[in-house]
Amino acid sequence: MQKVTLNNGVEMPILGFGVYQIEDIELCEESVYNALMEGYRLIDTAAVYENEEAVGRAIKRSGVPREEIFVTTKLWIQDAGYESAKKAFETSLKKLQLDYLDLYLIHMPFGDVHGSWRAMEELFHEGKIRAIGVSNFLNDRLMDLIVHHEIVPAVNQVETHVFTQQVENAQFMKNYDVQIESWGPLAEGKNNIFKNELLVSIAEKHQKTVAQVALRWLIQRGVVVIPKSVHKERIIENFDIFNFELSGEDMEKIAMLDTKKSLILSLHDPKEVERLSNMKFHD
Ligand code: NAD
Repeated sequence: MQKVTLNNGVEMPILGFGVYQIEDIELCEESVYNALMEGYRLIDTAAVYENEEAVGRAIKRSGVPREEIFVTTKLWIQDAGYESAKKAFETSLKKLQLDYLDLYLIHMPFGDVHGSWRAMEELFHEGKIRAIGVSNFLNDRLMDLIVHHEIVPAVNQVETHVFTQQVENAQFMKNYDVQIESWGPLAEGKNNIFKNELLVSIAEKHQKTVAQVALRWLIQRGVVVIPKSVHKERIIENFDIFNFELSGEDMEKIAMLDTKKSLILSLHDPKEVERLSNMKFHD
């Protein structure tokens, strides 16, 4: 498995498995189990997905040694702040049946993120988390965290796919040694991605699928991807992207699909900030 090296030296697989919107706990466990059996070694969950227990059970059932798996979970807005973040971390760890986490992310740039970050820095120094990072942080929020704290986030997980390419933001992150990770690498199927004429033609040329081309395009840019699927054949398909290469011309053509704005979640919209901040989950 190809890996990226984070700013603290920790290695992270460039391809992983995401479990957003798999609310059916048994289906989630089965999907993560299938992914691990197929060879995935990075699993991306979050407290707010309410499936950390299922992920933990699948990891245990798989028999894959703990040190071979890179587990990410995220701190939701309701738990922002120093004390709450520490408590939320312990809850997540317990649900996942783990004694350390590979990557802990602040899920959204709202609420007391500075308190959360101080707690996460401590947990990192205590050896309970191998790397700490953020998600959905625009460059100004990222800079706010960088200048006010000791640890520079190792990762920023943001909406990134062929229609929302994050080219300038990725460069900004690179300048500060923050690894970009894509959520929604398949644009959650939106914008008719799987029927996109350009992607279909490039896929046919390589005898691959549109999903494989969309994922390959991201990893060739050095972006970590965590596609989600509950179907075994797609889990296998999304993993099979290391045996072909997109040409410079393919890469440039795909670059033309960029709309330079988010398709799924607009972090600039106050209504979205309000909606997300009011969203709660149960411990
Ligand atoms: P995605 O882009 O991975 O799309 C998933 C959907 O694409 C599936 O539900 C399925 O309908 C379809 N699909 C998957 N593989 C396919 C294939 N080979 N062929 C055809 N269709 C296929 O969307 P996502 O799940 O939102 O993003 C991936 C992961 O990123 C999530 O599971 C989650 O872990 C993470 N995520 C994080 C945030 C965040 O705020 N940090 C937000 C959304 C998602």
